[in-house]
Amino acid sequence: MSSKNSWRPATKLIHSGTTRSQFGETSEALYLTQGYLYDSAEAAEARFKGEEAGYIYSRYGNPTISMFEERMCAMEGAEDARATASGMAAVTAAIACQAKAGDHVVAAKALFGSCRWVIEKLMPQYGVEFTLVDGKDINAWKAAIRANTTIFFLESPANPTLELVDIKAVADLAHENDAVLIVDNVFATPMYQHPIELGADIVMYSTTKHIDGQGRCLGGIILGTEEWINEHLHEYFRHTGPCMSPFNAWNFLKGLETLPVRITHQASSAGKIANLLAGHKKISRMIYPGHESHPQADIAAKQMSGGSTMVAFEIEGEKPSAFKFINALETIQISNNLGDAKSLITHPATTTHKNLSDDDRDELGISDGMIRLSVGLEDADDLLEDIQKALNSIS
Ligand SMILES: *Cc1c(COP(=O)(O)O)cnc(C)c1O
Repeated sequence: MSSKNSWRPATKLIHSGTTRSQFGETSEALYLTQGYLYDSAEAAEARFKGEEAGYIYSRYGNPTISMFEERMCAMEGAEDARATASGMAAVTAAIACQAKAGDHVVAAKALFGSCRWVIEKLMPQYGVEFTLVDGKDINAWKAAIRANTTIFFLESPANPTLELVDIKAVADLAHENDAVLIVDNVFATPMYQHPIELGADIVMYSTTKHIDGQGRCLGGIILGTEEWINEHLHEYFRHTGPCMSPFNAWNFLKGLETLPVRITHQASSAGKIANLLAGHKKISRMIYPGHESHPQADIAAKQMSGGSTMVAFEIEGEKPSAFKFINALETIQISNNLGDAKSLITHPATTTHKNLSDDDRDELGISDGMIRLSVGLEDADDLLEDIQKALNSIS
């Protein structure tokens, strides 16, 4: 395997990071172990001193988890990574490992609900201040900067409004002010957006979503430079224990192998659904980053290579029509999860975003008629028929 560095994404997702045991297994081995043995007391001492390479304890590192981390690094163009127990463990660790009392975080308002809780509720308990801004407006980011700003945080496309942030512009601003930019890249997936190439310092995922892709395991990952990980994350991670289970890492390795095939199919179906909804008389608004009608189509073209697997739309008639539409679906199922092989639909105002105040929801554009659809791997025609039938059922 001499051409590793020139591998295209689909090849990296099959081969990068693989290490084999003495048995030469084809599929990645699952090392379901907590600890490791040493040949002698001297060998244990050397390993603890860092004089000898090797694993010590699976809270710090494990061969199956290392394979997953390395494959993700190859895909993202990152130097190093730490896999975590969930996407939220990744968000929390990425912020908490570096923020000190007196620091200030600037984040886009349009964030996954729990990410907002970490920034608005948890970090202030430790003296970390924050400002939430309209992520679309680069001047709002500029205006929020203070002498003590150390971290910028954003999600693009954002959940559930599929609003975009110009990652390169925000990264440049962060660096001019000696801050780091963390990007939550879940909605774009590793297939369609590369935040590190756009200037982000740290990229994180909930691997629960498209990287598993079949609704089984919770997980997350934080990717960045070796320097940042050694300086900030390494010790925090070892001692606080937000580590991934080796079983889940094995599952995500298998998920990465099929990621391009799945995402291509799902995004293609999402594009067809967007086209159906865009011109429909019962739909007052349709938001899909791969559609020409997206209000930030220019930014999508600049930083994304595909439209994603998520579609958001508003039904005429607010909550009663939205509920009627959702309940009329037969193939598409009701769930707040996303990135699954099964198409899943949710009403954000009463589920994922119910903890926001009415004002906050209004400001983010999460109306009572808004619906979020995660497009799965079913035949696109079955999904289109299901949606058409449910639309017909709304009077
Ligand atoms: C799901 C999600 C998370 C949280 O991930 P978990 O694995 O559920 O903890 C964070 N950010 C985004 C954008 C998500 O969709």
